[in-house]
Amino acid sequence: MTKYIFVTGGVTSSLGKGIISASLAKLLQARGYSVTIQKFDPYINIDPGTMNPYEHGECYVTEDGAETDLDLGHYERFLNTPTSKANNITTGRIYQNVINRERQGAFLGKTVQVVPHITDEIKNNIRILGEGGNYDIVITEIGGTVGDIESLPFIEAVRQFRWETGQNNSLVIHLTLIPFLAAAGELKTKPTQHSVKMLLEYGIQPDILVCRTEHHINSDIRKKIALFCNVNINAVVESIDASTIYDVPLLMLKEQLDKTVLSKLKLPAKNEPNLESWKDFLGRLKNPTAEVRIGLVGKYVELPDAYKSITESFIHAGAKNECKVRVETIHSEELTPENAIEKLQGLHGILVAPGFGQRGIEGKIEAIRYVRENNIPFFGICLGMQMAVVEYGRNVLGLKGAHSTEMDTETPHPVIGMMEGQKKVTNKGGTMRLGAYACDLRKNSKAAAIYGKAHISERHRHRYEFNNAYLKQYENGGLIPSGINPDNNLVEIVELKNHPFFLGAQFHPELKSTVANPHPLFVNFVAAALAYARKK
Ligand code: GLN
Repeated sequence: MTKYIFVTGGVTSSLGKGIISASLAKLLQARGYSVTIQKFDPYINIDPGTMNPYEHGECYVTEDGAETDLDLGHYERFLNTPTSKANNITTGRIYQNVINRERQGAFLGKTVQVVPHITDEIKNNIRILGEGGNYDIVITEIGGTVGDIESLPFIEAVRQFRWETGQNNSLVIHLTLIPFLAAAGELKTKPTQHSVKMLLEYGIQPDILVCRTEHHINSDIRKKIALFCNVNINAVVESIDASTIYDVPLLMLKEQLDKTVLSKLKLPAKNEPNLESWKDFLGRLKNPTAEVRIGLVGKYVELPDAYKSITESFIHAGAKNECKVRVETIHSEELTPENAIEKLQGLHGILVAPGFGQRGIEGKIEAIRYVRENNIPFFGICLGMQMAVVEYGRNVLGLKGAHSTEMDTETPHPVIGMMEGQKKVTNKGGTMRLGAYACDLRKNSKAAAIYGKAHISERHRHRYEFNNAYLKQYENGGLIPSGINPDNNLVEIVELKNHPFFLGAQFHPELKSTVANPHPLFVNFVAAALAYARKK
C-alpha cells in the first residue's frame, strides 16, 4: 500500500520545501523505496506556462509536455526519474476540472462547493499518483505558506485525506524558520510555535518539524520546540544553510529524517541508504582541479531562477569534468556591436539562452558572431539556436536582413518561421510544441559523437523552427543540420564543422540533466571551454 507524506511550509516562503522534499525522496530512494514527488501550487493559472519568468522563474517541461513549476526540475535532478503532468497541480487546474464537470451535469443538481467538491478533487489528484502501484511513497508538497487564504483548501484536503487513510499511512512534515536575532544573540522559536498553532487550528498536527536555521539548534531549543509543538524530540530536524543544495540529502541523513519518517509510517528501514555515487558527485563538485568562465547571455539574468535548469546542468557538467564552472550572466540588452568584445573577452564559452520576443535579440546575435569568429565554444539553446541560424544567415551566407518571423514578420529571409501547426493557434496556454520528441543524429557529426548514439529524445518548448526552405543553403554553407526529427523533418540541432564547439539545439537539454546523468551536451561544452581556457 502506498504511503503519503505531505510537506507544508510556515513562517515565510522560500524556505526550500522543494529541496527538502527532493532530499528526503533521495534518501528513501537510496534505501530501496520507489518515491515520487508532487507539487500543489495555490495560484489560479492552470499552469505556469503563461507566466513571465520574472513572476515565477523558469517553466519546467516534463516528458509528457506539461509546463510546470521549477521544483519539478529539482525532483528529477535528485531522483533521476521523470515526472509528469500529474506531478504539478494548481488551484486553477482543480477548479477547471470541477467546473467542467459541473457543466456536464456531473453533480446531479447539487450545490458545488469548496468543501467537499474542490477538496475531493484535490484528494483525487493526490491518490492518482499512488494508485498506479508504481510508488511505495508519494510526497506531496503544498506550495505557499500555511495561513495563506489561497492554500486553505489544500490544507483542508490534507486533513481529510489523513483521516481517511488511517494511522501510519501518512504524515505531515512542516518546514519552518528559526530566525537568529543578532541583537539578542539568540535563535527564536516563537514563529515556529505560532505557525504550528495555525496548522492545529486547521486540524493538522504535524509529525515532523524541519527547522531552517543559519545556526545550529542545540538540544535545549529542540526540547522547547518539541514541547510546545507536540512532537517527539527526534522529530525536530535541523536544516542548516548549505553551501550547495546537493549537500541537503546528507544533512538530512545526519539528522535521521529518513529513519524518523520510516518509523512513523511503519515501514522497515531495510538497508542503509546507498549514496556512494551521490557522494562521489559531491567530491568532484567540491574539489575542482580547474575553472572555466561561461557567459550566459539572456534577458532575464536579474533573476537567477529564470535559468535554473541551465545553471544546475552546469553544476552537473562541471563536477563530471572536475572543473568549477563560473557562470557569468550577461544581459543581452546591454550587448552592442561596440561593446561585445569588452563584455565577452576573457570568457571560455558562451551559452545563448532560451527566450521569447524582440528585447535584447541583437545583443544575442552579436555575441554569437563574436564567438563564432573567434573560435570560442558556443552553445545555443532554443532561441539561442534560432539566433545562431539568423547570425550565420546574415553574416556568412549573405542573407541580408535574415531573421525569425517572431521578431520581424516582414524579413526578406525568414530563416526561422512559425511551425505550420502553430499558425491557427490563438490560445497561449499549453499550445507550444511541448515535451519529448525523437531526433535522429547524423553520422559522423559532433552531436552523434557527443551522445554516442544515433537516436535521441529531448524536450521542447517553442513555436518557431528552422525554415527548411533554407536547408540546402545552410548545409552547403557549412552550418550542418546534424539532428533531425524523423517524423516531420524539423531541424533540431545545427553545428559548425570547423569550430572547436559551435552547436545549437532547438530542444532544451537542460531539462534532462541530473546528478546521476549529467547531460552530454553540457559535459562536452564544458570540456570544450576547459580546452579553450588551457590553450589561452
Ligand atoms: N521564442 C522561440 C520560439 O517560440 C524560442 C522559445 C524558447 O527559447 N524556449 O520558438
